[in-house]
Amino acid sequence: MTDQDMKIVVVGAGGRMGRMLVAEIAATEGCTLSGATDAPGSPLLGQDPGLLAGSGATGVQITDDPAPPIATADAVIDFTAPKATVDHARLCAQAGAALIVGTTGLDHGQEEALYLAARHVPVIYAANYSVGITLLTNLVEKAAATLRDDYDIEVLEMHHRHKVDAPSGTALALGKAAARGRQVNHDAVKQAVRDGHPGVRPRGEIGYATLRGGDVVGEHEVIFAAEGERLILGHKASARRVFAAGAIRATLWTHGKHPAVYDMNDVLGLKSDEAETIQDAERHG
Ligand code: NAD
Repeated sequence: MTDQDMKIVVVGAGGRMGRMLVAEIAATEGCTLSGATDAPGSPLLGQDPGLLAGSGATGVQITDDPAPPIATADAVIDFTAPKATVDHARLCAQAGAALIVGTTGLDHGQEEALYLAARHVPVIYAANYSVGITLLTNLVEKAAATLRDDYDIEVLEMHHRHKVDAPSGTALALGKAAARGRQVNHDAVKQAVRDGHPGVRPRGEIGYATLRGGDVVGEHEVIFAAEGERLILGHKASARRVFAAGAIRATLWTHGKHPAVYDMNDVLGLKSDEAETIQDAERHG
């Protein structure tokens, strides 16, 4: 550890992703764990997150009060739950700490809290921090722009039995990329529930199917189905480490960046001005 190291707080450090992040920080040069939190009432309070993660003692204790560690942090990594993420966004804006959000399932109001914080600090918001999914999202947008709407788009995802939101944030991000490619409003064509007698599939719909079970880390397929052929673009994550590595890369990237909301396309240098314009237009309705 040196004085130049980026000081990072991991909120939700006792969670599946939190532990991965703590271990990844220990394995990465240029950053150090300066604080760790978990939910009030968690049995992990007071413990050393490095020992929990199996990466060695850090000298940090898990606390349930995020304000003191965030006040002295350069960056905060948040893979927790939507309500907690909103609180952390406010604290980061006050403290001048960059915020890296992996939490999924935020509603529009909760997302707005991230945009408010991004007036003061850099915020990275990505439904999936893996490099593979970031590339897949770009490929899906391109495929949707090329294929006409006689290709029905369906997004299929499977995750472990503990996941609480559906469809997954990544599935929604893939569906939104397809909608951008087609230049349609995602929310107007999204179909996440089919049960009973939904009738004939409307042309232009973007459908979702959600599978849950076992310990599946994350699998996604985007299917473009026409009469006579199907194009299937997919990704399988077999270890959570890919998300943690991507999140740490994103965290280090925030150094010196101006306040705004960024995503993994920015971090990996893949963003086109055109995509940015469409995303901004979508956000403002
Ligand atoms: P988890 O349940 O194992 O961990 C969440 C942790 O957050 C728990 O330890 C919980 O106690 C803690 N927490 C809840 N409220 C808190 C609060 N107020 N303050 C501090 N800590 C709090 O879940 P997980 O599998 O690690 O996933 C967490 C989130 O990250 C989910 O939304 C999941 O969908 C998302 N996720 C995103 C990516 C990505 O690449 N963006 C990858 C994996 C998971």
